[in-house]
Amino acid sequence: MTVNDHRLAELGLAANGRVNGSHQRRIDRGAVERAAADLLRALGADVEAGALEETPRRVTDAYAELLTPQPFRATTFPNDDGYDELIVARSIPFHSLCMHHLLPFHGVAHIGYLPGERIIGLSKLGRVVEYYSRELQIQERLTTQVAGWLQRELEPKGVGVVLEAEHLCMSLRGVQKLGAKTVTSALRGAVRDNARTRQEFLALATRTSHDQ
Ligand SMILES: [Zn+2]
Repeated sequence: MTVNDHRLAELGLAANGRVNGSHQRRIDRGAVERAAADLLRALGADVEAGALEETPRRVTDAYAELLTPQPFRATTFPNDDGYDELIVARSIPFHSLCMHHLLPFHGVAHIGYLPGERIIGLSKLGRVVEYYSRELQIQERLTTQVAGWLQRELEPKGVGVVLEAEHLCMSLRGVQKLGAKTVTSALRGAVRDNARTRQEFLALATRTSHDQ
């Protein structure tokens, strides 16, 4: 199953045996451009003025890119050596789009798992985060989606996901706390239930932001 199939499953659609699935959110570019122009006008801007002429198209390109996940295959390998310690990838950069304000939030993800029968290529951990980031999101859901995907795809003994992000809707408006970080976590299996494993994961995950 590819990550895209999971997305399809979440959406309640049939996967139809797609491999690197071709399903994408349907973006009506013409409608987005017209809406962007309307928004600019409503904001009191002169859209027909030279400097803004191309803006609706650029806005459309930007949102289309930010909301288009790249399907990929989860490459897993048999855990032949019986590795049974935590595997942690720290400080994976990511950015996403807040569904409440359509403003970005960005930060780092720390992902760890306690392997069972299989292990996964480390680069895929970054791809999973990126995949679920290309969506109108909230950080809590992004965190649990990444953990859920690893749990399903890898069936490890435990999973831990910690996301630290700055939300521009918080730092540039409203309370305006520049640099304030929101931290979310999703712990599963032994990473949640075994005190030693949990502590080890959280120590590895939280250390990163200060001393790389
Ligand atoms: Zn927001």
